[in-house]
Order: sequence, then structure tokens, then C-alpha cells
Amino acid sequence: MTTTDSNADVALAPISAVPDERGRYGVCGGVYVPETLIEALRQLDEVYQKVCRDEQFWDRLTDMNRVYVGRPTPLYQANGLSRRARGMDKDKEKGATIWLKREDLAHTGAHKINNTLGQAMLAKKMGKKRVIAETGAGQHGVATATAAAYFGLKCDVYMGSEDIRRQSLNVTRMKMLGAKVIPVNEGSCTLKDATNEAMRDWMGSVEHTHYILGSVVGPHPFPMIVRDFQSVIGRETKAQALRMIGAMPDVIVACVGGGSNAAGMFYPFVDETQVKLVGVEAGGRSDMLGDHAAPLTFGKLGVLHGSMSYVLQDEAGQTSEVHSCSAGLDYPGVGPEHSYWKGLERVEYTTINDEQALEAFLWAARDEGIIPALESSHAVAQGVRMAAEMPKDQHLIVNLSGRGDKDVEEVARLLGDSL
Ligand SMILES: *Cc1c(COP(=O)(O)O)cnc(C)c1O
Repeated sequence: MTTTDSNADVALAPISAVPDERGRYGVCGGVYVPETLIEALRQLDEVYQKVCRDEQFWDRLTDMNRVYVGRPTPLYQANGLSRRARGMDKDKEKGATIWLKREDLAHTGAHKINNTLGQAMLAKKMGKKRVIAETGAGQHGVATATAAAYFGLKCDVYMGSEDIRRQSLNVTRMKMLGAKVIPVNEGSCTLKDATNEAMRDWMGSVEHTHYILGSVVGPHPFPMIVRDFQSVIGRETKAQALRMIGAMPDVIVACVGGGSNAAGMFYPFVDETQVKLVGVEAGGRSDMLGDHAAPLTFGKLGVLHGSMSYVLQDEAGQTSEVHSCSAGLDYPGVGPEHSYWKGLERVEYTTINDEQALEAFLWAARDEGIIPALESSHAVAQGVRMAAEMPKDQHLIVNLSGRGDKDVEEVARLLGDSL
């Protein structure tokens, strides 16, 4: 069993040996983009292949992760949440120990920085002086603006006007970091529309601009690159589990928007088939199309933003509207590798609705003194429910993808007087 070296895992077991050279994960993934972007993606793939063999690059990133991001983030034994899970069993005979992987403690407050620093380094390698990004909740925008400030790159962030209204704190942060926030007034004025605009910008600016995509979505090689940069989460977790638990965890739970925190956590465990992996999508306010953001649960295969994967779409194949209380999960698509893992039945996908996520937000706050992001609260809700059904000697890890400072106003509004 390896502890920290995911490359060794790839060599040993075929299940994680994806994507193929065409960027395919089974039938998913691929490159569905206009001609103008093919060359840019090919260049990115080439640079990344080189970087994969460049030890200096990874040493530099590891060093930055340590002194700038604050890695490794702790694996924390959550006794309060574990007690809550035990209390749910009538006979008090069940209840696994719950652990939290503390990505909320990473610089800028979430896992997003793991990816943006790596991609900003790729931009520098390609000699590009400007980066662009799309953002929903603003977390990826902030992480991109941060990496751009660090490396002295010009930074423009596309954001739906509806999200700009909902997430004013992050808009201010991006501006303070020196980025320009460009409002998008198309469609539902949210993340999907901001992504369209960022891609349109890139088509006209590839010569001098790198597009820092924020999740494991989009055309190849983006899903692979983002997964690799985020895999530091799972590699650290594996080493920490072996040290602190003395064994592999029995279950790992992570929330799934585009799927980057989950992919980064799961990937180093994909070949450890005794570890059950659970992805949690946003169940929103009901199972009706438009009321949730759960493409793996309710979607159909289709092409969105340059790759084939599960997509929420209506009868006519139009991408549907989505809803979640958490802006970071509010996306109609999902990374192609998740669709692949679903097909293999390697990862189990389920949903947690708005109300359950809100409840778990307060569990983490009051049982642990940790205010989680609303996105991460979906994983906490699922983790506590599952732990309650597991034997007492088992261990369950929740990936706490981010902290909830950005969500306190929204949660106060939703809870009203009951707070
Ligand atoms: C952006 C975000 C997510 C969702 O994105 P993934 O790519 O699915 O990880 C989840 N949690 C937090 C805290 C986020 O900021």
C-alpha cells in the first residue's frame, strides 16, 4: 500500500489510468470546442505533459503550498459530530468516528487555491501575461485573483450579475486583489453564463491569455489538470489516515459541484477499493427539474462547456436552470471523470437538500465551533447520516471543502428568527 505517491498508484492499477490520449473517460470527456480553441488546448496539453516530468515544478508548488497556502491542512477528529451520529442510533450501538479534512483552513478559505496556483504557474511557463476565470460564488474568482497577484499576472473574472448581487463580499475581495470583475448579463446571469463568456473571451485572446478553469470540467486537458492539482487533498489525507487512524478510512464523503474537491479527495483512493467513496450533489428544494443541481442523480449524458458528461437538460435537450442554497454547487454540469466513476460504480452519488444542508451547517458550527461553507455542509449532512449507521469501530472522513464566512448573511436570511 502506498502512502503519498499517487503516481505509483496509477502504475499499479488500471482503474485510475484515465483519461486516454484523446481526453476520454470511457464515453465521457473529450474536446467539443470551436476550431479556434483546439490549438490553445493542444499547447496547454503539451506544456502540462512536460511539467509532469519536471520535478522542479512540483517542488516549487509543494513549497508554495507549505508557506503560502498553509498545507498540509489538518485531518481533524470531530468528536462533537461523532457524538451526534452516535446519538442518532436508538440503541447507541452504532456510530463511526467522523474526521474532517480541513480545506477550510487553506489560504482564501477553500480548496480552490490548490488549482489556481498550479494553473498560474502553467500560465507563466507558457509565457502568458493575462489570466481569465469564471466564478459563481466568487471563491474561484478570489483564488484566481490571489494567484494572479502573487505571480504578477493581469486578471479578469467573469461573473453573472445575479451572483455579483448575491456575493458582494467576494466581489470586493477580487477588486482589492487587483482583478477586474466583468458582469455577465446573459441567460440566468449565473455561473453557466459566466463560463460561456470566459470561453468566448479566450477564443479571441489565447495568444497572451490563459483561462484558469475552476473545476474538473471543460474540454481536455482541464479536467485532468485540475484533478491533479487538487489531488494533494487525497494524498495528504491518505498519509494522515495511516498515521492517525492506523488504517484506510472506511468511507469518504465530499460535495460535488463541478466536482474538483471531490475528485482531488477521491482520486488517490480510487484503487483502494475497500474505501467507500460518496459524492453529494445539491438536492435543492425538490426533485423537479430546475429545483436542484444534481446532474449525476437526475441528468442525461450531453455536451456542456466542451466535454461530454451528465448534464441537467429538458426534453428538448436544452440545459436546464438549476437551484441550490449554495452558489458553489449551482451548476447544471459535472466533471466527466465523475460520470465515469458513476458508470463504474466506483463512487456512489447521492443528494442532500437545502434544508438538510442548512441543518448540518449549524451542527458543524455548534458541535465543533467550525462554520462550514454551505457547499461543504452538504457533505457534513451526508457524513453524519452515514456515520450513524456504521459500526463504532469504523472511520468516516468528510472533506470540508471551505469555510462559511461568505455564507453567514445568506444563512441568517434563510434561518430568520429561528437563529
Ligand atoms: C467552489 C466550491 C465547491 C464546489 O466546487 P467543486 O469543483 O465541486 O469542488 C465546493 N465547496 C466550496 C467551499 C467551494 O468554494
